[in-house]
Amino acid sequence: MPSLSIGARFTLRFTLALLVTVSLFAGLLYNQLVQQVESAARSFLVVQVRDLAELVERDGLLAPSVARALERSVLVAESDYKLGLQVFDARGRTVAAGGTLARHPLPPSPAPPPLRPGAPPAEEVFRQVDLGESYPYLVVSAGAGEGSVQGALYTRRFVRNARDLRNLFLYTAPVMLLVTAAIGYWLARGSLRPIQQVTATARRISGTNLEETLPTRGTGDELDELAATLNDMMDRIRAGMARTRRFAANAAHELRTPLNRMRGRLEVSLEKERSAEEYRGLLEEVAVEVEGLSESLHGLLRLAQSEAGIAPGQRTDVDLRGLLEDVVSFFEPLADERGVVLEHTLEGAGRVSGDASWLHQLFANLVHNALKYSDAEARVAVVCMAEPGRVAIEVRDEGVGIPADEAERIFEPFHRVRSQPGAPGVGLGLPLAREIARAHGGDIHLASEPGRGSVFRVDLPRAPEV
Ligand code: ADP
Repeated sequence: MPSLSIGARFTLRFTLALLVTVSLFAGLLYNQLVQQVESAARSFLVVQVRDLAELVERDGLLAPSVARALERSVLVAESDYKLGLQVFDARGRTVAAGGTLARHPLPPSPAPPPLRPGAPPAEEVFRQVDLGESYPYLVVSAGAGEGSVQGALYTRRFVRNARDLRNLFLYTAPVMLLVTAAIGYWLARGSLRPIQQVTATARRISGTNLEETLPTRGTGDELDELAATLNDMMDRIRAGMARTRRFAANAAHELRTPLNRMRGRLEVSLEKERSAEEYRGLLEEVAVEVEGLSESLHGLLRLAQSEAGIAPGQRTDVDLRGLLEDVVSFFEPLADERGVVLEHTLEGAGRVSGDASWLHQLFANLVHNALKYSDAEARVAVVCMAEPGRVAIEVRDEGVGIPADEAERIFEPFHRVRSQPGAPGVGLGLPLAREIARAHGGDIHLASEPGRGSVFRVDLPRAPEV
């Protein structure tokens, strides 16, 4: 079955909900009305029978006043209802009858109790009797002195009233349904129009123009929220795509340069016969280039992996102090070689939740850079500071420093500060470090003064206490 549109589903649900509530309400109303009509018919009959029974008790069975009252009651009721009354003597013989019960006499009911005024008669007092007409008669008997009185009331009028109401509901129900469905459809269309506009714009954007944004109406409602969320998402996608393009262009450039260099060297060497010594020199040069290329590729791979985030299985509670001690001791030989003093103050380090090997890579990159860009006698320090819910790790150096306008760009892949072209490296260490910090819910910031040194500050959230 083809799936229905939201508008059609809304209309159906709206109609169904209204149908259920109106039916329930009509059912209750009908029930209430039937009860009221029944009780009105019973009261009317009881009053007629009781009045006649009282007269019989007072004046006697054969009194002319009884016959007159019987005739009068039947006559007065006749214009509105069909009433019949009978008076029986002690042996159950009819002594007077009027109305329907004169035409269709009924046998007396055996020993009926008198009807007391004020007290409502018991349910058993009433009988339904079929006198051959379309609707049954309601019959009541009451003891009256020696004899008894019996009354019968045609129920047609009462039953018809209730039925008319039921029919009215049944006949108007389809019209009501149609009107409800039309209103539901109109409401649904009105509410869905803004969604259709958002969809149309989104389709245009995805088709051709990624720069377009979805219009917001400034109402702050759910649709505005949806449009704003989609716009945010598009912003992130645009930024991501721009970054990817830049990254791919830089990567291609970085890989092409050494390849071109190698090709040039090989072509020149192949122009004529060379001595074994010259070939050895050439191969050594190519080996260095290949080493550089492989380092670049390795860096690119690590960066691409880190951008995918930390796999849930790799996340553990990492003891930051132990990890930083490892990093520092790993670089101590290099520090000694360069004559740089490498210090650490790790008291504030706690535990962070993450991937130990990624975190090791992050701090190794920072410490390695600090050593690389420092002169002999300079100091490099790794310092931890505890903060509420977080830990800040600073890698401080007294090296060449970084100009303020480069402070953000050094975190872009392959970006290297122009004033230090001699230092070895490919420009992927800091972007990787930042990706790792962000994958752990933190970030890296730089404070630097050219000629005096730099401070790379890594902020990481602490692992939750268990
Ligand atoms: P690489 O060190 O391989 O060139 P990075 O991404 O680690 O790549 O660093 C990017 C650039 O930032 C470096 O080329 C260097 O110019 C600059 N830089 C990084 N760390 C320091 C530092 N501690 N002191 C001075 N400059 C630095």
